Amino acid sequence: MDSGLYVHVPFCVRKCGYCAFFSRSAEPGLVAAWFAGIERELAALPAGFAPTSVFFGGGTPTALDESELARLLDLVRARVDLRNLAEWTCEANPGTLSPAKLARLRAGGVDRLSLGAQSFAAATLRQLGRIHAADETLAAVAQAREAGFANVGLDLIYGVPGVARETFQADVEAALALAPEHLSCYCLEIEEGTPFARAAAAGRLAVSEDEQRAQFDWARARLVGAGFAHYEISNFARPGRACRQNLLYWNGGEYIGVGPAAHSHWAGARWGNTPELPEWKRAFEEKLEPAAKARETLVMGLRRLAGWGRTEFRAATGFDYDELRGPEIARLAAQGLLVVEPDRIRLADDALFVSDAVFAELV
Ligand code: SF4
Repeated sequence: MDSGLYVHVPFCVRKCGYCAFFSRSAEPGLVAAWFAGIERELAALPAGFAPTSVFFGGGTPTALDESELARLLDLVRARVDLRNLAEWTCEANPGTLSPAKLARLRAGGVDRLSLGAQSFAAATLRQLGRIHAADETLAAVAQAREAGFANVGLDLIYGVPGVARETFQADVEAALALAPEHLSCYCLEIEEGTPFARAAAAGRLAVSEDEQRAQFDWARARLVGAGFAHYEISNFARPGRACRQNLLYWNGGEYIGVGPAAHSHWAGARWGNTPELPEWKRAFEEKLEPAAKARETLVMGLRRLAGWGRTEFRAATGFDYDELRGPEIARLAAQGLLVVEPDRIRLADDALFVSDAVFAELV
């Protein structure tokens, strides 16, 4: 069974206006404290934990300088049993990369780069508060290939208020022109506590769900037409390039997260860390009751376009999905939101954009 290690690198050069992830600026004192905490958590990994995937996420892992990245890679290599490793991803902001950092990551074992491109239009990047320009994304992809990365993913954001459909379409075309192995298209969400939320509350930022949906539908058709598999609501991949760490979350697999705000699910328990620096602690820890865990797995797995096969779900959870949520599944099928086949259930195409409402009925 696959398992994953997530390392939260909570540093960003500057906060983007829409972002609610936990991050701070990479001041030397905070970076030193973070390393001390990560070292402690890695030293306390459970016996027998040998992840199939490692994921450096954030924040911006590449906000660390070259020697700090080297230290992080050394730490993971020294403390984690990597004998089963099949994929090691690092998220990166194009404004924080250099050939030297990329070479360092690649030499340290990282084989997948996930680049936050978000847009290629100067006005959209400015509106989002991104620190980089489109040409830095182009340079980052070229440098990543040069450094030996055969697996590069790009993130795009759609549905940004005021951004015309044609502008987003041009973003998708620009991303395709870079020939990535993976593309994520995330809908702009207005997250509580962000400058975007304050602007929306003041009536200065109006999200159009119809426009967001139109952009999503267009991107989906375009990317599938270009040979990408649409394998999860927001994610598209070339054959064999689906992100293993994310698949793990959606398949109900086990993972351990280290760093502030990181979450874990291991051996029937779930816990999360507080979003704090210089020190963080356990925010909560709970034992999962098997049926509750199975319902959660049901919902997570329905994010995948393939949905759940009956046998696969039973193998993952020990339950039949009809036993757990039979009446709700039948009702959602009658509403055209779930496709129910004799031995498989999956989200209907019409439900992809309103999946949260469907999941709320099932969890
Ligand atoms: S770079 Fe990423 S993590 Fe950092 S503030 Fe922007 S969106 Fe958030």
